Amino acid sequence: MTQPRQPILIIGAGLSGLTTARLLTNSGIPNIVFEASSADRSQGFAISLRAWGYETLLSALGGLPLKSLLRGAAPDREIGGMGFVDQIMWDNATGEKLFVPDAAAKQEIVRVNRNALRRWIADCGEEELDVRYGHRLCRVSGGVGEMTVEFENGAVYRGALVVAADGVNSTVRSQVLPRVTPETVPAILYHGEFQLPRSDFDRLFRPLCGPSNILAGIGDGFNAPFAVCNMTKSKVHMDWSYSRPVAASSSSDELYRPNLPAAEAKQIPQALRDELATVSRGLAEPWSLFLNPETIEKHGHRVFHWTVRCVFVARDEMQRAAGERGVVFVGDSWHAMPIFGGEGGNHALVDGVELAGALAAGVGLDAAITRYYDGAFKRSQDAVRRSKQRFYALHQPMSHWREIEEKRKKGLS
Ligand SMILES: Cc1cc2nc3c(=O)[nH]c(=O)nc-3n(C[C@H](O)[C@H](O)[C@H](O)COP(=O)(O)OP(=O)(O)OC[C@H]3O[C@@H](n4cnc5c(N)ncnc54)[C@H](O)[C@@H]3O)c2cc1C
Repeated sequence: MTQPRQPILIIGAGLSGLTTARLLTNSGIPNIVFEASSADRSQGFAISLRAWGYETLLSALGGLPLKSLLRGAAPDREIGGMGFVDQIMWDNATGEKLFVPDAAAKQEIVRVNRNALRRWIADCGEEELDVRYGHRLCRVSGGVGEMTVEFENGAVYRGALVVAADGVNSTVRSQVLPRVTPETVPAILYHGEFQLPRSDFDRLFRPLCGPSNILAGIGDGFNAPFAVCNMTKSKVHMDWSYSRPVAASSSSDELYRPNLPAAEAKQIPQALRDELATVSRGLAEPWSLFLNPETIEKHGHRVFHWTVRCVFVARDEMQRAAGERGVVFVGDSWHAMPIFGGEGGNHALVDGVELAGALAAGVGLDAAITRYYDGAFKRSQDAVRRSKQRFYALHQPMSHWREIEEKRKKGLS
């Protein structure tokens, strides 16, 4: 082979799309990435990468060392940091350590800024990637070997195969697999971004988190972690999340708004102000200083309401989408999962590695896609189920956390 003469058309320049594009390009397989947003848009928060995720990527990029990735993408790279995470859970009401994983149970996790990681992946090769920004896909048609994609700006392209890397609300999926609709997890999740002077960070956060890029804060049935997105000598860009299960009767939970339009998701509803005012009274510092409505408003935190969604698919429909419609899926477009436990980004990277590897093996498009799903289907669909369960496990009453810690201490003594 049997390598396609026409380009592979990749929809979406997130982690999954760029990983696929970078590795196809490194193997000499023509491809074009189409991205709806502009080149300067930010996906500026940080995510956790696990050893199985980053090692797969580094190996596919020719055996690059982890320090190369961390120098390019760790949130604290500008001050010589390597994305360290201590994995300690703090009781956010007392400011005391609630759960300290012992060395053997600790997982190898690093933090990376998502935007910096996208740039780093895009730059990991001799040949520049062909990324066309400002191209929002509106229609996909054809079959393997003769695909056509049309964009809102009027552009039309033809290619051998379409790779759907367009995220949880995938346009490609809605056209090719209209039966698959994301399932909403009954969770409330707000995310806030803010900046503070480095001196304030060192005074308020460092005594607890030390060199860690996360300060995880567990509450009684809710979660409120802080994370570093980017750090320089003078400033720290951080975020917080506030999450809890939906109240027993979802119709009486004013914060449960699963179908919120994007513009409204950026507003701070009065119900959230009221809830955080109550919650913050029971918090220790630094949680109480930042997770309260006065600070959020006064310091202009950028607040966003995330709807927590899962995408489940069946193996045979994925195979049919490939065989009959010429589309193969990577990343959140076919296995979006709750962010709790941090796996989605890892699977997006591994999908890109496995799909590009299968396509580069020269076995023909149909066989390559079968080979890709043989590996990726179970790995990623199991992860969706696991992440969904983790949401419930991470939002337990405080008594449950204390019991776990007691048992652990007894087991150690
Ligand atoms: C707050 C938060 C924290 C997270 N933390 C972690 C973590 O710690 N660890 C972890 O592993 N994962 C984490 N994740 C999940 C992780 O970020 C995602 O799983 C991953 O980024 C998905 O990558 P993707 O390429 O599949 O999709 P996306 O990053 O969503 O990229 C899709 C791209 O497609 C583009 N697009 C969409 N529609 C179209 C269209 N019609 N035409 C053209 N382009 C289009 C979008 O603009 C976007 O650039 C977190 C997510 C969130 C929101």
